[in-house]
This record gives sequence, C-alpha cells and structure tokens, in this order.
Amino acid sequence: MITKKTLQLSLKSLRDFAKKRLPDEELIALDERDECPEEIVRHMSNPNQLGIQLLFIPEEYGGMGGSTFDVYLICEQMARIDLGVATSLFATFLGSDPITFGATPEQKKKWLGKIAEEGILFAYGATEPEAGSDLGALKTTADRVENDGKVVGYKINGSKQWISNGGIADYCTILANTPAGPSWFIVDAGTKGFTHDEPEDKHGIRLSNTAALALNDVYVEADRLVGGVEGQGLLQAQMVFGYTRVMVAAFGLGAGWAALDRAIPYSAKRIQAGAPLSEKQGYTHKLIVPNLVRLEAARSYIEETAERIDAGTEGSLNTEGAIAKFMATEAGDKAADDSIQALGGYGYTHEYMVEKISRDVRITRIYEGTSEIMEMTISRDRWQLHLKTRGLYYHDKAMECEELHRQHPQVGADLAALALHALAEIMEKARTARLTRYQHILLRLGELIAYAECSGSAARRAARACDGKLNEKSNARVDVAALAAISRVFAREAALKVANEGLHWVIGAGGVPDAESAAFQASLGLPAIHRAQTGLIADMDYIADVLYGRAVKASAEEHAEAALTR
Ligand SMILES: Cc1cc2nc3c(=O)[nH]c(=O)nc-3n(C[C@H](O)[C@H](O)[C@H](O)COP(=O)(O)OP(=O)(O)OC[C@H]3O[C@@H](n4cnc5c(N)ncnc54)[C@H](O)[C@@H]3O)c2cc1C
Repeated sequence: MITKKTLQLSLKSLRDFAKKRLPDEELIALDERDECPEEIVRHMSNPNQLGIQLLFIPEEYGGMGGSTFDVYLICEQMARIDLGVATSLFATFLGSDPITFGATPEQKKKWLGKIAEEGILFAYGATEPEAGSDLGALKTTADRVENDGKVVGYKINGSKQWISNGGIADYCTILANTPAGPSWFIVDAGTKGFTHDEPEDKHGIRLSNTAALALNDVYVEADRLVGGVEGQGLLQAQMVFGYTRVMVAAFGLGAGWAALDRAIPYSAKRIQAGAPLSEKQGYTHKLIVPNLVRLEAARSYIEETAERIDAGTEGSLNTEGAIAKFMATEAGDKAADDSIQALGGYGYTHEYMVEKISRDVRITRIYEGTSEIMEMTISRDRWQLHLKTRGLYYHDKAMECEELHRQHPQVGADLAALALHALAEIMEKARTARLTRYQHILLRLGELIAYAECSGSAARRAARACDGKLNEKSNARVDVAALAAISRVFAREAALKVANEGLHWVIGAGGVPDAESAAFQASLGLPAIHRAQTGLIADMDYIADVLYGRAVKASAEEHAEAALTR
C-alpha cells in the first residue's frame, strides 16, 4: 500500500524530473523532430532512478502495489508533462496487464518481477490492420508445435498495427488466435521473424514510438502462453478495461488541465480593451469555466470509479471505466482546443504549447477504445439495467440524489436528479417505440447516460467535500464551495442536454407521435429543468473568481444561499 506521503513524493519526483529533463523547449524540439526520447523513457522506468513502473506492480513481485487511485494520479501527472512520454510508460503497464490479470503464479513472478527489477519496456500488441475496435476479427495465428503429442511451443504469424513502444520495447504481449481461440503470448523483441516498421508520422504524441509489427513464423515456447490455457485472451483483455480506461481518462484530465493551466495565467496578463481577458465574462464563461467544470465533473467519476475498483467488490467496472474515459477525454480535448482560442494567435503557434497539447490529447478519444465504442459499451450495459428494473434504474438513481439534496441542498444533487429522471423517461420511450433498432439512438443514449451519471457523481463528491470526507489523496484543485458550484453548473448542463437532446433524437427517430408530444415533454420535466438554470451565471462568476484568486464577492455560504433562491 502506498501512503499519501509516498504518493506525494512520487508525484513531486515526476514534476522535478520533468522540469529538469523535459522543459518546454525540449518538448517542442522532440515534437518537431518526431522523436521518442527512449533514454528518458528508460530512465523513468529504471527502478534505480525514477522507477514509475514500480507503482503498478504488486508488492509481492517487487513493486509498490499502487492502488487504482494512486495510478490515476500518476497518470494525470504524466499527462500534464507530455502525453507521448506518458503513453510510452503506459504501454509497459498495458503490455503487462494480461500477465497481471491472467498469468500463472510462476509467470507473474517471472515477468512482473523482471519489470520491477530491470525496468524493461513492454508493448501491447492487440490491434491489427483489419481488427481495431472489433478485436474479434483478429487474423494473427498461433499454431501449436507438438512433440510426442505434447504442445511444446507456438508459431505466430500475422501483423499488428499502431503499437505503442512497437519499435523500442524489449518484450511484447501479442494477441493471436490459437486453435482454442484468442490468447496472449509474451514475445522477446529479438526473436527471429519478429520485426517492426519505421515509427508512424503522427498528428500528436510524437514523443511516443508507434510502430507496426510483423510476425513471420515467430517461435515461442509453450510457457509464453499467458495463463497456460488457450482461448482466454479476450476475457483477459476485458478484465482490465475498467482499470485501463480510468487511466486513459486520467490522461484526458491531465492534458486538459495542462492546457487550461496555460490559458488561465495567460488570460490574467493579456490586456485587451483596457483590462485583462480574465475580467471579460464573455471570455472566461466561454473558454475557461465550462472546461474546468467538465474536467472536474469527469474527475468525480474517475475518483469514484477508482475507489470502487480498489474496494474490489464489484468486478472490473468496465462500464464505469468507459464513462470515465468518455467524459474525461472529450472534456480534455475540448479544453485543449478552447485553450488555443484563449491564447488567440499565440495559441496557434508551437511556442505556447497549447497547440501541441491539443494535438496530443486527441489520441485519448481514439486509443483504448474510441469514444463511439465507449458510447456503445455504456449504452448496451445500462440498457440491460433499464430493462431488468422495468425502467426504474435511473428513477432510483434520481431518488438517491433527491435524498442527498435533502442533506446537502447546495451541491446540485436536485439538478442531477432532474437529469436522471429525464434520462429514465427517454430510455423508456426508446423501449416502447423500439428505437434502439437505430444504432445512432443507442450511441446517443450512451452519451446522455454518461452525462447524467457524471452529474450524480459530481454532486456526491461535493457532498463528501462538505463533510470533510473526500479521499485523502483526492486531487481537489478548488475549495468546498467551488466544488459545489462546479457540480451545480455541470448538473444544469447535463439535465438540459439529456432532456433536449433526448427529445430531439426520440422525435427524430419517429418515437413520439404529435398527439403524445405534449405529454412526453411534460414527463421529461422540461419546465423544472429550465427553471433550474436560474443562478447559472452567478455560479460561473463564483468559479471564475475562485480560479483567478479574486476576492469572492460573497462568502461561500451566502453564495450557495443565493444560488438556491431560484
Ligand atoms: C497513436 C496510437 C497508439 C496506439 N497504441 C496501441 C497499442 O499500444 N496497442 C494496441 O493494441 N493498439 C494501439 N492503438 C490502436 C487503437 O487502440 C485503435 O486505433 C483503436 O482501437 C481504433 O481502432 P481502428 O484504428 O482500427 O479504428 P476502427 O475500429 O476502424 O474505427 C474507425 C472509426 O469507426 C468507428 N467505429 C468502429 N466500429 C464501430 C461500430 N461498430 N459502430 C460505430 N462506429 C464504429 C470508430 O469509433 C472510429 O471513429 C493505438 C492507436 C494509435 C493511433
């Protein structure tokens, strides 16, 4: 177990190292040269130097046994430094995941021990030229090699596409089809027949090595089959999605904040029309505050999911991981794009970094499952819960928020309840009108579900902060009153989005005949959702004041009172 103090020391070492070895000028130069700083990645992995790998290796194998919560914070910090380098380090983490979750005890001891002791680099070879989102379409094969009727090894043939660390890793975990189905194999980089292409010339994360791999009659001993049983590969991959997607969510969060943390001080200094941009409400309330709100709402969901994974009682939480990834990476991408706008012409140049961050963070919406695949994952799972509970799943969640509102009237739980009730009605309409036969409706539901669930999570986080019960390691960037204001602003957006966009799509799919339109609209609680927008600008003003360290006009309590008088 990692204590708060040890974690803070690790985060500080990372920051100090980056300041010394990866200052802006160096990052810009490496980005322009399209170069992966392999020596830096190895230094960061080396147990005698920075030893980042140790954090995610269990203690019994020589690591530090970091929890999901610890690793999320490390991932966020790495992304704040550079998402390419972060991806390189993460690749070892991903590459060793099938081992952590699916290997035999001997394999775990050998391979996880090797990562901890030697700081070797791994790559994770799942994607193929024709098997991306649909991994089941993989064509790489692993044929048994038998001796006296006993399987002694495998011959692997095929190719892999877009593999992070593909050109620099010491070992690669390769997903290949055995006679009994997809399985993971551990392959040494130098094995005969195992080659990689030149690194890809990418839009962003240019400090990360991404390469295609070719496997021509690559022979591995039978003990390289992860878990020792064929056909477990997809299952082993799925077992870790909740966890790995929380980490990519942390990448979106870290990169989004890295961009905002440049836009915020810039706007405090940049004078236009006689005053700093930070004092122009049309600027802060469009380019800064909404991004902060969405990032912090996503953080609530990340932290809640990380805690639940660490509690170990609810399985792998793949859907929650998908919601965290979808919300945080979309928020990070938007924050970086708006940060370019916030810096005007300077934002459009290399020197000011936000342009690079924006190119970098874009990948988080693609790898480890695209945003569209996240929407599908979320929607399919929650659709089953909607059916199983006869439409009550989100009404129940809304009632939990109403109860929270009675205890903490200032944290926006009543607004989250509006979003969740509206969602339940939209899903029920989709059921009765059989609208999920349209794939687009199914995926749009995924997005609305993510927003509604996130609003509940943000309210719970604000309530915990009020009670002084936030996780002691939580990265709380603002005070309790600002967390409550963030929750209220986000929940207003979520409720409006769920009701308006839900209505838009169910009507668009022919699910609401004219005669039923008024009744259906009433069931969504639209008038209440519109009334709940009262206080929005005041909350945004408050968040901007806190952010820019301005004297807050009213005390936190007075402000919460005012926001409640709607
Ligand atoms: C820089 C980089 C690093 C990467 N690192 C690794 C790595 O280390 N290891 C690894 O194994 N992979 C890696 N990947 C691969 C990555 O995970 C895939 O690119 C991703 O899963 C998407 O697959 P694809 O590119 O084949 O796109 P496709 O699956 O072809 O998708 C193309 C588009 O279609 C959409 N789409 C796909 N299926 C559906 C559907 N059923 N319904 C609706 N829309 C759909 C997608 O959302 C996307 O917008 C990396 C990729 C990149 C670019």
